[in-house]
Amino acid sequence: MDLEMRQPLIVGNWKMNGNLPESIRLATSLKNQFDDKGNIRVAIAPPFTALYSVSIALAETNIQLAGQNMFWEESGAYTGEVSGLFLKDIGCHYVIIGHSERRQYFHETDEQINLKVQAACKSELVPILCIGENLKERKAKETLSVVEKQLKLGLKDLAIHDFDNIVIAYEPVWAIGTGETASPEQIEEVHHFIRGWLKRFFDAPTANMTKLLYGGSVNPDNAMDLMKINEVDGLLVGGASLHPEDFIKIIKFEENA
Ligand code: PEP
Repeated sequence: MDLEMRQPLIVGNWKMNGNLPESIRLATSLKNQFDDKGNIRVAIAPPFTALYSVSIALAETNIQLAGQNMFWEESGAYTGEVSGLFLKDIGCHYVIIGHSERRQYFHETDEQINLKVQAACKSELVPILCIGENLKERKAKETLSVVEKQLKLGLKDLAIHDFDNIVIAYEPVWAIGTGETASPEQIEEVHHFIRGWLKRFFDAPTANMTKLLYGGSVNPDNAMDLMKINEVDGLLVGGASLHPEDFIKIIKFEENA
């Protein structure tokens, strides 16, 4: 396993929360409390309108920026869309793609998500591809087939070198924003499946360097236990990332050992 490539990554997704002053206050508070020991990679995904100001607030820190979404074209007559190049231009390192809220409320398909993943790689952004089953699918024991389909379609036509920089986040939809976390067994089963799938469809080195995050009701009390699960390389955090004290405790999960 490539430990350097699999350095833990913790990403905070602010979703559609925070006007400009709130976002700057949140980012500044995070910056002031972040004691960078260089062992964990940290990123936050503020709303688009706050990205530039937050990038200034975080200058000279190792807290990186992520977009919450992007469009696959680079520029043109696509009113309301934001391209990967624009995200890169204002200092984003990552972009979240295919979050379940985008799949659910904006009807994003795996095919569209694939175009976005490809465009992110082309723009030299690191895509964080979100996959995961809903409750109905879990109850019907379809979790692995759903995840497999999302992987197969979402990662279609990617070159091996694109995997130098790709992150996959397993987020069971029923665990997002519900306070209900998937069990360690459920998470390990899916992460193990994803790693195996990557080995089969790409190769072992590629699979071994791909970071697999877990997301779904992560909080300061469960972060350490989640990070101990085999094949979990990091966390995608929604609600708790809006509270700097909680997000910092999650980042410092090792200190709760
Ligand atoms: C998310 O939005 O990706 C998420 C995991 O949210 P929460 O942590 O609030 O469940």
